[in-house]
Amino acid sequence: MKLSTKIVHCGVGSDPRTGAISTPIYQNATFRHPALGESTGYDYSRSQNPTREAVEKAITDLEGGAAGYVFASGMAAVTAVLLLYKPGSHFIVTEDCYGGTYRVLDQIFANLGFTVSFIDSSNLTEVQESIQKNTAAILIETPTNPLMKIADIKAIACMAAQRDIHTIVDNTFLSPYFQQPLLLGADLVIHSGTKYLSGHNDTVCGAVVARTAELGERIRFIQNSTGSILGPQDSWLLLRGIKTLALRMEKHSANALTIAKWLQTQPQVKQVYYPGLEDHPGKAIQDAQASGYGGMLSFDVACPSLVPQVLSRVRLIQFAESLGGVESLITFPAVQTHADVPPEVRDRLGVSDCLLRFSVGIEDVEDLIEDLQQALHNEG
Ligand SMILES: *Cc1c(COP(=O)(O)O)cnc(C)c1O
Repeated sequence: MKLSTKIVHCGVGSDPRTGAISTPIYQNATFRHPALGESTGYDYSRSQNPTREAVEKAITDLEGGAAGYVFASGMAAVTAVLLLYKPGSHFIVTEDCYGGTYRVLDQIFANLGFTVSFIDSSNLTEVQESIQKNTAAILIETPTNPLMKIADIKAIACMAAQRDIHTIVDNTFLSPYFQQPLLLGADLVIHSGTKYLSGHNDTVCGAVVARTAELGERIRFIQNSTGSILGPQDSWLLLRGIKTLALRMEKHSANALTIAKWLQTQPQVKQVYYPGLEDHPGKAIQDAQASGYGGMLSFDVACPSLVPQVLSRVRLIQFAESLGGVESLITFPAVQTHADVPPEVRDRLGVSDCLLRFSVGIEDVEDLIEDLQQALHNEG
């Protein structure tokens, strides 16, 4: 079955008792036991809940994994994955990663004896040279946030597997519709389901999918033990969001490519970062490992004073953090999403005081361009 068909049928048929097409919301904490030593398969909603289970099955299937679990947020999903590893473990992590991932490693897991090499994961030599005796996992984002660099998932997973190191891919930016890291050899996929999976800026959630049943079981144990589950209402919203993932991703991606090309022609714009542009250094790898470019792009405006101008003048495009919803959002990473990354690191990465990140929505692209145009141009 084709992926876009699977996407539409997520959760359908999950309620054999009633035949409900839309999986019901089982707003329920506990379940009656049929008899001593017997279970319906559901005992207590931290451990299993039918609504959550339906969306977990759906995401697992879309990512091509053996088992998957949904969490209270993307950060809860990241945290559950990091709890797989012992104190003293070393990690290799994409340097321009999500700001919250940087923060949890730097300020929470550092206290548990984790060490991290933040590296440019688009540079294979740098990844290889960062491997230490105690390296437990390589955690990558591709495209990266916010500079849209591309890492070669297959090459990294191959290098890691030879040394018994896990490869973990945060697949939030592309979603399984465009990229399926487990099929390229990754061990674990993480999502902020808040973004493209749910897609409507109306719920915060996360997911982890494991390539093997064994690793999936360890994630399930951590989820049940630490309790960072997604509730039934939010599980339903996530499931409902996923059903239109294919349509949304196609539109996000088409809009983003048109806008990226348009921005390149604007005198107020110095540089555009989008993996679908012919001159993007990662385009060949992107074309080989993904079936689309996604809806995220960044651009440098010509001078810092244009940043407050654009952010205050946009009308249709909302100045807000987050990404991946149907509405277009623009943000200023240096101050908003990447404030916890030290200034010298931001400078090295290119997260400058001229960089704007744009989550391109599914509006009519002409309206979006018109809004950007009036926001960028000086009314003489
Ligand atoms: C938003 C985001 C996260 C964190 O997810 P929350 O749902 O906000 O906790 C992690 N990784 C990436 C790439 C993100 O964009």
